[in-house]
Amino acid sequence: MKRIYLDYAATTPVDKKVLASMLPYFSEKFGNASSLHSFGVEASEVVEKARQVTADFFGADNKDEIIFTSGATEANNLAIKGVVKAYYAKSENKNQKPHIITTAFEHHCVLYAIKGLEKEGLIEATYIQPQKDGVIRTEDVGKAIKKNTLLVSIMYVNNEIGTVQPIAQIGKMLKDKKILFHTDATQAVNYFDCNAPKLGVDLLSMSAHKIYGPKGVGVLYVKKGTPIKMIQDGGAQENGLRAGTINSTGIVGLGSAITGLKMSKMKNKEIEKLRNYLIEKVLQEIPKTKLNGSKIKRSPNNANFSFRDVEGESLLIMLDAAGIAASTGSACSSGSLAPSHVLMSLGMKAEEAHGSLRLTLGKHTTKKEIDETVKQLRKIISDLRKISGNILGDYYKKVKS
Ligand code: PMP
Repeated sequence: MKRIYLDYAATTPVDKKVLASMLPYFSEKFGNASSLHSFGVEASEVVEKARQVTADFFGADNKDEIIFTSGATEANNLAIKGVVKAYYAKSENKNQKPHIITTAFEHHCVLYAIKGLEKEGLIEATYIQPQKDGVIRTEDVGKAIKKNTLLVSIMYVNNEIGTVQPIAQIGKMLKDKKILFHTDATQAVNYFDCNAPKLGVDLLSMSAHKIYGPKGVGVLYVKKGTPIKMIQDGGAQENGLRAGTINSTGIVGLGSAITGLKMSKMKNKEIEKLRNYLIEKVLQEIPKTKLNGSKIKRSPNNANFSFRDVEGESLLIMLDAAGIAASTGSACSSGSLAPSHVLMSLGMKAEEAHGSLRLTLGKHTTKKEIDETVKQLRKIISDLRKISGNILGDYYKKVKS
């Protein structure tokens, strides 16, 4: 059975060119980029090249504004905790808690970082609710600002429902206010303009494995002059902001993946066309189905549906048995049976949120795959709606054996 991969928001396959660019840096060119000898110089030269490519992509003034991390989780933690740490490092700030504004449907690495700081008594926080269409209103961000607001952290594209947030508009609104602005652009980099100065952000996070690069490497863009401190003790790598041996091999891959993005504009249009076709077919052919999140303000590769009277985990297992890889909510939370915090933030009921399915397309997706997916989906949903819990139980046993 030929498998169909429709989970590109979870991760993407490493592009062949990206892999080829990385290979020498696993073996013969293995030097530590911080070493002063020729092996080190060989590694540091390619790291700096990749830093320049990355800086150009994000519109950075200087390549030193690019901090390489182990991924978006680390970049987001560094952005949020690093800014709070810098705030408390100033003695005049010791007795006043800063305020952070974020949204209720951020990725857990942002949400839990902020909730953790709140629990420790270090900050106060406001969690903005999106509108029913999964989009945050700039006006609501404006209303949440307080005298002590230190940071606004809002994702660019939501990883579950693919909705696009008005980052440039929020950036404009925050301009001239002494508030730092961070965006988690992990799901946006493939499809949207991520020029940081144009967006008006001080901090921006991303991850290579979502853009046909390797896992375990990411970026935090830090605008020059942003008060931020390292959160992990150790060496002085990455401008003193991120201790630890530089992942030169991964960084070479990240640089190549970013170079590859410039060539994918045409492909993105095709992805969007296929995604629209998928949405149309599913809504037409499967009754009691709803698209979650705005149809328009949406990443070109994302479709997220709720099927009434269907349990999402069963749907995933049956789709996988039919050779189709999809996801309910995000891959990061699929170990938990709790309904998606993203769907709940849209005001959905728990039972509705449970019957959700995320299909995310990528550059290798074909029309044939979409047709096969719709065909299987129609059959599986109809079966799931018919069969009782007992039969489903037997089915699970069969899948496991
Ligand atoms: N933020 C968003 C929006 C994401 O989609 C993800 C990946 N699911 C992350 C952060 C975490 O990225 P990483 O896997 O690189 O830690």
